[in-house]
Amino acid sequence: MKLNLLFALFLSTVLFACKNSGSNTDTVETTHKDSVAAVPKQPFEGVEFASKKDVACGMMLTAGVTDTAHYNGKVYGFCSKECKADFQKTPDAFLASKYRQ
Ligand SMILES: [Zn+2]
Repeated sequence: MKLNLLFALFLSTVLFACKNSGSNTDTVETTHKDSVAAVPKQPFEGVEFASKKDVACGMMLTAGVTDTAHYNGKVYGFCSKECKADFQKTPDAFLASKYRQ
């Protein structure tokens, strides 16, 4: 009778220990923030543009440059491919416009 009781006690402590170690392993899964946002806000950061504005639409380039065009050895930034396409049709007309700086 005494042996049975000891055995039961032993068994319950083993089970309890197993339960404890099992629940501890779940708490290691909440540290991966850096892998997501390595994309720069400004893909053309550091590029010297000939104008501070999108010469096709007049938008400030600080708002975002998605495309660039080279003309007469200068780099012009554009908010969209459409603006770049417009500029390339008649670059001189755009450069003579009020947006030129
Ligand atoms: Zn534009």
